[in-house]
Amino acid sequence: MEINRFLCQINKHIVRTQVKNKKSKKITIVLDRLTSFPWKGLYTKLNPERKFIIRVDDYPRLDHKFDNFKRFHLLTKKYKIDYLLCVTPFEKFYGREIDFLNSEYFDFLLKEHIEFGLHGFTHQRRKDKSELLLMGIQKLRKRVLKILNMFSEYSNFRKVFIPPFNQIDYDTFIELSRHFEIVTGGPESLYLFGAYPPMILNGCAYMPSYYGFYGRSERINEFLKNRTYFNNLMPITLHWAWECKDNYENLNNLLKNFSRKTRTWKNFIETLTDHKHLKRA
Ligand SMILES: [Zn+2]
Repeated sequence: MEINRFLCQINKHIVRTQVKNKKSKKITIVLDRLTSFPWKGLYTKLNPERKFIIRVDDYPRLDHKFDNFKRFHLLTKKYKIDYLLCVTPFEKFYGREIDFLNSEYFDFLLKEHIEFGLHGFTHQRRKDKSELLLMGIQKLRKRVLKILNMFSEYSNFRKVFIPPFNQIDYDTFIELSRHFEIVTGGPESLYLFGAYPPMILNGCAYMPSYYGFYGRSERINEFLKNRTYFNNLMPITLHWAWECKDNYENLNNLLKNFSRKTRTWKNFIETLTDHKHLKRA
């Protein structure tokens, strides 16, 4: 097995072992180190009840009915869940490209005041490599500047970049860190970027979300059920289109548990800005 896939498997293994064995305190600690913000000072100002920050990937998905997303969003409203929607303005991976800014998808996002960040440009990939790693730094910079110019006038836009397929490497991160407050990661970043916990690098927050806190709500639910404590703030990643199959039943259970326990990304970014000087606890 390649070393990169191996790292992903380790993360999966840690999660599975912990789910099976509730008393595996050592493993819990490893996972906490890997998945939560480690700065003590960050928490003193936060309401300890609101320790989840949620990102929702893949908007729009043109291979899905728009109503599916609307139902997802209605559930988040019902349980008063804050989340960041990860937008791909020139999406070509799941469907044809549309004029996103003049589409009902964008109208809905504005009307509902949904916070949104940038989830790549087209979300395409070739031979397992995402657009981000294929385009080169110069092109990336040009595209980022153009899109920031486009989105910055909208008050619900957050300077958060969510690499498609969680594919990010060091050079890409450094370029993105010059333009965004937060760059996210996921299971795939473990092998492309490294096995890091959330941290601040080059004045930008790197915020990965690994297995246990990443994936279908059924799995996340199962994982959280067996956790006896939460050390710190947890970044959770959902994919709305992955939740339709069971008529949102598992999602409903998950959101119920998170009700009024989430934080807006605006608030989180403000808190981060206050603490960028902090060293690891
Ligand atoms: Zn995606």
